[in-house]
Amino acid sequence: MTWQKELKSNINNINDLKKYFYISKRECILLKKIVKRHPMSVSKFYLSLINFEDPEDPLKKMIIPSLEELNLTGSYDTSDEKSNTKFLGFQHKYSQTGLLLATHKCASYCRFCFRKRMIGLSKEEILQNLSRAIRYIENHKEINNVLISGGDPFMLSTKIIADFLEKLTDIPSLDFIRFGTKIPVYFPNRFLLDEELIVILKKYSKRKKKIYIVLQVEHPKEITKELQIVVNKLIDSGIILNSQTVLLKGVNDSPEILSKLQNKLVSIGVNPYYIFQCRPVKRVKNSFQLPLYKGYKIIEEAKKMLNGHSKRFKYVMSHKTGKIEILGIMNDEIYFKYHQAKDKKNSSRFFKKKLIKSAGWLDDFD
Ligand code: SF4
Repeated sequence: MTWQKELKSNINNINDLKKYFYISKRECILLKKIVKRHPMSVSKFYLSLINFEDPEDPLKKMIIPSLEELNLTGSYDTSDEKSNTKFLGFQHKYSQTGLLLATHKCASYCRFCFRKRMIGLSKEEILQNLSRAIRYIENHKEINNVLISGGDPFMLSTKIIADFLEKLTDIPSLDFIRFGTKIPVYFPNRFLLDEELIVILKKYSKRKKKIYIVLQVEHPKEITKELQIVVNKLIDSGIILNSQTVLLKGVNDSPEILSKLQNKLVSIGVNPYYIFQCRPVKRVKNSFQLPLYKGYKIIEEAKKMLNGHSKRFKYVMSHKTGKIEILGIMNDEIYFKYHQAKDKKNSSRFFKKKLIKSAGWLDDFD
C-alpha cells in the first residue's frame, strides 16, 4: 500500500470515533459542529497509541476534538503572520529566515495547532508560486535559511519536495534548509513506505546544503520504535534533527514528563531546540495554555532532572514582536529576553514585567 492510500484510512468523523470510546448524544452533536469548523484527522497509527480506557490519555487530548473547543477566547493569528506575509505562502519576519507555507494539510490534525485558522481548511495562505519565492530569497541576501512549513511539508509528494530542494539548494546565499514536521510521529510510514523520499533528502543534504528537520514531539508516548527507525534513517542520510515541543495543559505539564521527553529525544538522536509556550489561539487557549508562571516553574523543575545536553532547549513565546525567551522569576517580577526580534530595536532586549500569576502571554501583562 502507498502512504497516500494508507492516509485515506484516517479517522475524520465523529461517528467513526464512537467505535473507540463512549460519546453521549449531546456531545456527538456538538463535536460534529466543532469538526465542521476545524476538521479532525487521526492516523490509524496514532490512534493505536491512545489508551481509550484512560480518560486523561495525553495523546487523546492532543488529537481528539473536545467540547472545550467551544471556548472562543483568543485569536486566530496570534503571531500576526498576516503582517509578515510578503506574498501568498511566503513570510519574512526575522531577517535571516524565509518561511514557506507549503501546504495546509497534515497527517493528523493537532487540536492545539496555532495555524488552526487554515489547517485542513483552506489553501488561501499557501505558496502558489515557488519561482516567486526563489526570486525573493535571491534578492534578499540577508536570508541565509529557509523554513519549509505548513501544514506539514512531508504531505507534499516526493516529486514536489525534490523540486523545492533542487531550487532552494541552488541559491548561493542560503546556508541550510529546514523542514518543520510531525509526520514521523503521526505517520512514520510516510518515510518507511517511500524509500525515494529518503534518497532525495540524502542527495541534497550530502551533496548540496545541510538539511535540518525540526521534529515536533509533545509527549514521551509519541517516541515509538517506528519513530526511532525514521530518525535513524534520517540521521544516516545526513539530516540533523532538532526538536520542538509545545507546553500543553493536561498533556506534558509535569517536570517528570518533560524531562523524560527531553532525555528520550536525546537518546534517539534528536537535539532539544525549543519548548513553546502555547499560543492564545481561539478554541485552543482555554484547553491547553498554562500560565507562564506555572510553565516556568515546571520547566525549571524538569531541568533539575536533565543533563546539560538534554536541557539545551529554550522556553520561548512566539510573540508577534519576536521569539521571547522566558528567563526567570524573582520576587514579584518575571524576566524576558528577545531571542529573535521582528524589529531590530528589540534584538536581544532584556526586560521585565510585574508578575501576574495567571498571565499566559506577554500581552496579558499590559
Ligand atoms: S502538525 Fe503542525 S501544522 Fe499540523 S496540525 Fe499539528 S501543529 Fe498544526
